[in-house]
Amino acid sequence: MEPRWIVFLCGSCKAAYGKSRSSKDMRCTHCNHADGVIISRHQNAEDARNAITIANTPPEIKSDLEKWIKNSESRNSSVKITNIDGNQVLTQSADEDGIVSLESIEITLLEMRAEIGADEFAEQASAAGELLRIGNNLWRLV
Ligand SMILES: [Zn+2]
Repeated sequence: MEPRWIVFLCGSCKAAYGKSRSSKDMRCTHCNHADGVIISRHQNAEDARNAITIANTPPEIKSDLEKWIKNSESRNSSVKITNIDGNQVLTQSADEDGIVSLESIEITLLEMRAEIGADEFAEQASAAGELLRIGNNLWRLV
């Protein structure tokens, strides 16, 4: 697939700016000069925007910004519900008597960076016959 977004560096004001590939007007969005050079191409607008932000950032904070963007990207693609081992969550949440509280599930899910609430998880585990409700927000492993 052809990258749809092009990031230019303006030869006149030295600022980076982005254009859609289909755009007829490739002039600098900051100073209107048309002597930009292409510094990168991107599939989506968000990547292009990140590239522009980095290019327009002073060098001394650039690496911090790059780090921050990388971190936020990896956060977005963190473990999803489907990647959770339900049995592991239950084992890790239960105390030595096999008792599981909503709070302990919450902590385990948090540790696993799971994108499912403790309520929902307990409900699903109960429905699957893996948990037996024995009280308010309290379960026993089956
Ligand atoms: Zn310019």
